Amino acid sequence: MKVMKFGGTSVGKPERMHQVATLISQNNQPKIIVLSALSGTTNSLIEICNLLEQGNRETAKQKIDELEIHYKNFIIDLLSKEEYQAKAYEFISEHFDFLNIILKISFSEALSKDILAQGELLSTKLFSTYLSEVGIHHTLLPALEFMTIDNNEEPQIGSIKVKLTQLLQQHSNCTIFVTQGYICRNAKGEIDNLKRGGSDYTASLIAAAINASVCEIWTDIDGLHNNDPRIVDKTYAIEQLSFDEAAELAYFGAKILHPACIWPAQHFNIPVKLLNTMQPSAFGTLINDNKPTKGVKAVAAKDGIIAIKVKSSRMLLAYGFLKRIFEVFEKYKTSIDMVTTSEVAVSVTIDNNTHLKKIILELSEFSSVELVFEQTIISIVGNEINAQNEIMPKIFSAISQIPVTMVSYGGSGHNISLLVPRNLKNQTLKALNTGLFDL
Ligand code: ASP
Ligand code: MG
Repeated sequence: MKVMKFGGTSVGKPERMHQVATLISQNNQPKIIVLSALSGTTNSLIEICNLLEQGNRETAKQKIDELEIHYKNFIIDLLSKEEYQAKAYEFISEHFDFLNIILKISFSEALSKDILAQGELLSTKLFSTYLSEVGIHHTLLPALEFMTIDNNEEPQIGSIKVKLTQLLQQHSNCTIFVTQGYICRNAKGEIDNLKRGGSDYTASLIAAAINASVCEIWTDIDGLHNNDPRIVDKTYAIEQLSFDEAAELAYFGAKILHPACIWPAQHFNIPVKLLNTMQPSAFGTLINDNKPTKGVKAVAAKDGIIAIKVKSSRMLLAYGFLKRIFEVFEKYKTSIDMVTTSEVAVSVTIDNNTHLKKIILELSEFSSVELVFEQTIISIVGNEINAQNEIMPKIFSAISQIPVTMVSYGGSGHNISLLVPRNLKNQTLKALNTGLFDL
């Protein structure tokens, strides 16, 4: 059995949905299809939640109405038979009636999760209706019946496996299953989600749970590129990556894949393929651990980084200083990306400034703190990158004109990270493309 996940843009237009239907019905191999919400829907639903939280019901109502019109127009081109259009019209109305009822209830976090779930519930129902119209036999599997997270918001892979296997067994003559990405139930049994972009995570959790032959992630780009194609002219899709390389790239800016989606696939050794709905025959990128390679594979960038420089003369020959610093970040649930140290100072970077003020206040109790805003992490990724002597001189000669804020080398063995001012990001990426890939 394989898993095929289609993102928002792959289902965002009626003709794209038709294309997905063709793609999934090309052979008889059993498969689970995971769908995102139509592109733009989750953003609109988040906007509606924010408006409701601010008590701005009028604008929220306007947004809900706009979205309802969008869906009702969508089915005109998606479906051609009146009977199916009427069916779709009915369930769209039901979902929007629900949103309109929510408008009248006082806002809560739990309610916002119900609102956010509507996108994937609608996209899968629309797709399923289309499959029925064109006579493609399939089963719609409700993700809320098997996808669960625990108190720490961690997916419960054991229980997902048991519940999903049971559901699949109830339809043993079926080869195409369709389910929602992103949505799940939390430890209280309430509707919840796997965070933004979480449909990739759903796909790899399902692939792990059913021991799939492959987890295919279908998007609108032909795989992970060696550099950011939006910024750098000459880039190419990487044919193969190890799980570790893919994890570094997914985390550091390569938006095509949700970072959390790597671990289930890696742990259960399920190959992941990144494929392009617009160009289905292109090879894409294969992520597995079968073919360990050496050398630099790719460069990726992550914006919105703040560097925090913590200095204390008391650190000289002292122990426990790092612990004290990290405890402050732990207390405020703020994760650290890069760390560099000298004998009397430690620099760290964060990308989440929610608790920045409190963090600085606490750090200032035992050290002096300096902040550098508007930074970008440039991550250079490749297996055993640290073992290759020629790479460091290549990097530093390529970026000789860039005032680098921090360098982190030796942490994972397949990553060298540079912190540079945000306004020099493009220049750095271009210089590294020439210096490392001769492009
Ligand atoms: N619809 C959700 C989002 O936009 C989940 C996903 O597409 O992966 O974040
Ligand atoms: Mg995505």
